[in-house]
Amino acid sequence: MNEQQAQSIQDCIFCKIASGEMPADIVSSNTHTIAFRDINPQAPTHVLVIPRTHIEHAADVEPGHAEIIIEMLTTAREVAASEGILAKGYRLVFNVGDDAGNLVPHLHLHVIGGRTMSWPPG
Ligand code: 5GP
Ligand code: ZN
Repeated sequence: MNEQQAQSIQDCIFCKIASGEMPADIVSSNTHTIAFRDINPQAPTHVLVIPRTHIEHAADVEPGHAEIIIEMLTTAREVAASEGILAKGYRLVFNVGDDAGNLVPHLHLHVIGGRTMSWPPG
């Protein structure tokens, strides 16, 4: 890791939320992951599931992250259940890079639901 990468992790807002340095409306806290409400919700339920450790985005995931990624998915299901949307359905989204509108460079899984959604996404 070079100095610039180390600095960007130090400045990372989602690392700060994971460490408790920055406030968030946390809905679930597990061994490798936490889940909190998106500050700008796009649906009645819009929760972000993040790893506690800094991974930049889904394209950086490696076999060594397997346990973390599985926990992100099981946490997403738990969130859907506690939000009452498990039976009706919901959308899971990883945005990667500029064309997808990826803004925060810390891996996050959007859990979006509570309304019907269209496809394809805009
Ligand atoms: P992306 O576009 O990178 O996939 O999604 C980033 C998401 O993080 C956006 O939906 C945005 O509203 C949310 N977000 C950005 N900053 C904060 C923050 O400080 N707190 C919370 N709770 N959500 C944030
Ligand atoms: Zn981070």
